[in-house]
Amino acid sequence: MIPQKTVNVASAEELLCANRFGVFFGVPQPVFDHVWQALSRPEGKSVAYVSMEIGADPDMFHPVQDFLRAQGWKKSGDETCTRFIDKYLRGPRKIPVYSGGLGVLAGDTLKSFADLHIPVFAVSLLYREGYFSQLVDSRVGQIDQAMQWSPENTPTLFQLQDPDRPGQPLELTVPFFNEYDHPTEAKAHVWMKMEISEEMDYFVPEFLLDYSIPSSPPWVREAGLRLYSAKSDIMKANQRRMLGSCVLPLAERLGLSPQTIHLNEQHGVAVTLHLILRELEKRLGQDYHVKMAREDILAAAQEAAERIVYTIHTPVKAGHDRFARSLYTGISHATGCRILDLLAGDPDSPHEYNFTAFAMRVNRAVNSVSRLHRDVTRKQFPESASKIRAVTNGVHHLTWISPARARVFDSTDELLGWRDDPGLFGEAAMENDPAFLKQLRLAWEEDNRILTAYVNRMLGEHRSRMEETWIDPPNYLSHLKQGEGSLLSPGVFTIGFARRFSTYKRADLIFDNIGTLADILAKGGWRVNFLFAGKAHPQDEPGKSVLKLILDNQEELYQRSNGLARLVFLPGYDMALARIMVSGVHTWLNSPKRPLEASGTSGMKAAMNGVPNLSVMDGWWVEGYHEGQTGWKFGYEGPINADSLSEDPSTLLYAEDSRSFYELLPKVLDMFYSRPDEYLQLSVNNLRLNVPIFNTHRMAAEYVRKYELPLDPKTEARVVGFANLYKSDSCDWTEPQA
Ligand SMILES: *Cc1c(COP(=O)(O)O)cnc(C)c1O
Repeated sequence: MIPQKTVNVASAEELLCANRFGVFFGVPQPVFDHVWQALSRPEGKSVAYVSMEIGADPDMFHPVQDFLRAQGWKKSGDETCTRFIDKYLRGPRKIPVYSGGLGVLAGDTLKSFADLHIPVFAVSLLYREGYFSQLVDSRVGQIDQAMQWSPENTPTLFQLQDPDRPGQPLELTVPFFNEYDHPTEAKAHVWMKMEISEEMDYFVPEFLLDYSIPSSPPWVREAGLRLYSAKSDIMKANQRRMLGSCVLPLAERLGLSPQTIHLNEQHGVAVTLHLILRELEKRLGQDYHVKMAREDILAAAQEAAERIVYTIHTPVKAGHDRFARSLYTGISHATGCRILDLLAGDPDSPHEYNFTAFAMRVNRAVNSVSRLHRDVTRKQFPESASKIRAVTNGVHHLTWISPARARVFDSTDELLGWRDDPGLFGEAAMENDPAFLKQLRLAWEEDNRILTAYVNRMLGEHRSRMEETWIDPPNYLSHLKQGEGSLLSPGVFTIGFARRFSTYKRADLIFDNIGTLADILAKGGWRVNFLFAGKAHPQDEPGKSVLKLILDNQEELYQRSNGLARLVFLPGYDMALARIMVSGVHTWLNSPKRPLEASGTSGMKAAMNGVPNLSVMDGWWVEGYHEGQTGWKFGYEGPINADSLSEDPSTLLYAEDSRSFYELLPKVLDMFYSRPDEYLQLSVNNLRLNVPIFNTHRMAAEYVRKYELPLDPKTEARVVGFANLYKSDSCDWTEPQA
């Protein structure tokens, strides 16, 4: 467990807090009141952060649980308090309402807002069936299973109560303007997840709306069950509306007064439509729908834009929601469609509404998630080019640094205070400190042992279950008899790759020519473990085929390399597995087609642990790569043209980019096996050069500048300090030109 900082709490009862919406646990009452007041000040100086998914599993970063354990508090004289302690110490560890990088980024961002004391609340949905559970069978590939979980027992998650009906859950009414005069009313219960700062002196509430309740219409209940449910376009469109349309009613019901609404991706952009409708009503009166002219709509949109900050996360088309206009006329009223006609049009596709285009047009700031992505986004949206800026993503360092690494940093004088200020890594002279280097090496070895043990345990379980289930273990090694090389050994060079399986991420790139790969290893006598994980969206058949290819390559790679190469697939990728992987491998592989990985964050998690990246020059790596210092680059790095943005198989550059990888690999292996001290310096360089930049404290601080919030002087000073660590939008950098 990560040692805790001093927290000024003398008894568990002090962590009980309450307001008219219920009794909660996790911060002292004065902290709770302070935060709630900051969110509800009448002048509206807070932020609503709207995201389709939030990844913040309580086993990953959990100051309250760590604190209770450190204190040894298992129960209390107060019954309610004991119930909460119990939930915190033993509750389920997952909140499966995320699918990948977008959600994990949201969770990390909110944790940094809490650590920085920024008045923000988040809005998302509570999916009773989560995303999906992944089973993997060697013959079938990925099998999607429904997932069950229990919000009731999940630590840090509380159902809000109705102040006027004691004992009843708060039920929010969200109007859907299907019919003009008779809007459908969807009902939702509201859950609050508290993202609590490390010192338990601030929190960011996340409100998760549960629409799958009996009082909602069946189509709403169904659309709210699973994240990115895509059984039909209508269901998909409705799920988006359920996110965006609840923001204003929720804030009103809770008495919160956000001036700024931050759209984390365009999924929740329906809130913009609602802001425009309200503004029209304010200007023209109740019969605005008959009176409004084009100019009125544009003026109302301009007013609404003042409240919106929008982050776009991907240049990939599948990430930009488009819906047929005919579909929308069926689920929305004519006034809504008139607004969309004006603001959500797409010249390339006149029969559709393009919600990325809508979000792009109506806002006061647009941010992309890296410098390269900024330039690509400007090309994709030339009308908005001048306002598109970069705020490069980050990760929450306290979530992603492994316990073993954290112990080393805690015991290093020069890094004193690193938990509060990841910028400190930039100033510490660690590279010549033999004691530090030794500790760092030992911690890396420990994390590699933990990872290897995890994999071996999994392989063992597969083997023992083989007779009992109809699942054929996804790993070739599981089929080998004990002793025939059926386990992994720690200390063997380990390459990790884990992320969503989408075709542009090219998980199978390095296996494009297995013969070449096997020859490289044989020539150097190098053993290598390849560890892969990740889920493909249930409807993404090409993504599933890539996953299946990884499974299919295992035996051939093993045989042709005479057992030097072992490729293992780890099912059920989630945040906990991500941390074990990014800290336990020797290098983190990233092989997308440039420039389709707008940022990528798993590589930053590796860098936080001092693990060098082996990556295509895409996303954050363009900024994090320092030649010869932080890792390696391979693959195409020329200018971006029309083909670059295509996902057509013929444009994916497999042959060129895999050849470039094969040229590089022997250099990496040679350094690891022959010059371990040099290899360790890569680790130190990552800590020094990349930790101060690719963390969410710095990123959140850059966003706070865009929010234009008046902050108290102490918070302001911290924000300025973090924002000064890096200028994402630096103009010194330009994308290579043709
Ligand atoms: C960090 C993370 C991701 C995102 O990884 P990318 O490299 O950005 O694709 C996805 N899933 C999980 C569980 C993660 O922790």
